[in-house]
Amino acid sequence: MEREILLYNTLSRRKEIFKPVTPGMVGIYVCGPTVYGDAHLGHARPGVTYDVLVRMFRYMGYKVRYVRNITDVGHLEHDADEGEDKIAKKAKLESLEPMEVAQEYTLRYQEAMRKLNTCPPSIEPRASGHIIEQIALVQKIFDAGFAYESNGSVYFDVRAFHEKHNYGELSGRVLDDMISNTRELDGQSDKRSPLDFALWKKAAPEHIMKWPSPWSEGFPGWHLECSAMSAKYLGEEFDIHGGGMDLLFPHHECELAQNKASRGKGGVRYWMHNNMITIEGKKMGKSYGNFITLEELFTGKHNILVQPYSPMTIRFFILQAHYRSTLDFSNDALQAAEKGLKRIMQAAKDVKSLQVKGGSEDNKEIRKIYDDVFTAICDDINTPIALSHLFDAVRIINQVKDGQSAINANDKALLDELFLKFIPDVLGLVDESAGNGSEELVGGLVEMILEVRKVAKSNKDFATSDLIRDKLKALGVQIKDTKDGVEWTL
Ligand code: ZN
Repeated sequence: MEREILLYNTLSRRKEIFKPVTPGMVGIYVCGPTVYGDAHLGHARPGVTYDVLVRMFRYMGYKVRYVRNITDVGHLEHDADEGEDKIAKKAKLESLEPMEVAQEYTLRYQEAMRKLNTCPPSIEPRASGHIIEQIALVQKIFDAGFAYESNGSVYFDVRAFHEKHNYGELSGRVLDDMISNTRELDGQSDKRSPLDFALWKKAAPEHIMKWPSPWSEGFPGWHLECSAMSAKYLGEEFDIHGGGMDLLFPHHECELAQNKASRGKGGVRYWMHNNMITIEGKKMGKSYGNFITLEELFTGKHNILVQPYSPMTIRFFILQAHYRSTLDFSNDALQAAEKGLKRIMQAAKDVKSLQVKGGSEDNKEIRKIYDDVFTAICDDINTPIALSHLFDAVRIINQVKDGQSAINANDKALLDELFLKFIPDVLGLVDESAGNGSEELVGGLVEMILEVRKVAKSNKDFATSDLIRDKLKALGVQIKDTKDGVEWTL
């Protein structure tokens, strides 16, 4: 499909027409979870946002390589440079291998993402599996003169970098302001300047996750893994780098600086950032008592939830806001989303059996809705606008169903594409009630038993044939013998 796709680029601060590095292909790198703790609401938004981006490109005929990393080393929630790794700490407390801890949370995260119907990444690299690449990258930055060693650790030299490049260009921060807003080093630090960040940290003797390097036994700084792994799997110049707004600074700013320091160019064509989720107007956090895991949302087991919300309801709710706007969770908003989703899903069922009238003129309104939906999704993945147009189509579907309006085969084909392809394939919204396969199983079993009954009848074994009919009836399956065979209903 030859459509122009507009994407908002955080780096240029405007929407740009998407032009891939390689025609027909898209490389997307998204910062994945730090696998310490359960997947929560904060994970759902980037999960769904970049999933729709991937699905849209695939729908438009692009070949997509979607890379989302697993951070299993080097990242501490509050300060990437100091202190003890949380995975290592839990491992030590519970006598587990650090990899067991990381694996447990990785599986839980993947399961939550599967429930939200997000496509799995094409590659899901782990930071701990790419230590060699990260050491090589530190060496490159070192050789280029943008890093220094201090007591076995290696730091990125922000001032030296800023003399040649622009530290702060992605986040829009100004270096001098950042310096005056940072507290002075306490004299204990190995860093020359408080803005410098760790590329390699020497491990304390009790630290269990450490690797040999030219500088010390240690571990890589958090920002390093994404520079190393994106280049490894997508090349030194690739299309899209995504992540949450909370990663813009320092994580992505540092990543961009590392790219430029090591290879002279930023390497990313479009930087995308999804906005954050608030809960009843407040930031989500353990200290606010409103920290909700995805499992709690799906089961309703959290004191601020009045009911469980299905994964599709959460997904629909996220799609109702543009990814660059903030999104506020509340029970009212989720219940409204649940209703909206139901209407869309019912229309998707109804559209299959809509009657078509021949000869009538094409419905201009349907054509316009169809065009508007694709224009919206190609305009910086504007899902709320696409959904509002789809609701206009729901109204038309209901009118046709009630006999107040008629459509021809062309109109039906457009509605089919919107409701039977666009909604499940691009928006990723699917009917949850049909999701477990039980309907197909029941249907298959009834057909099989009717087959046995047919054999019994042809053998003139009417006792067996009647027994099957009566037993099925007792289970609520009505059967009717017709000249074309047997019809059954539940
Ligand atoms: Zn990252």
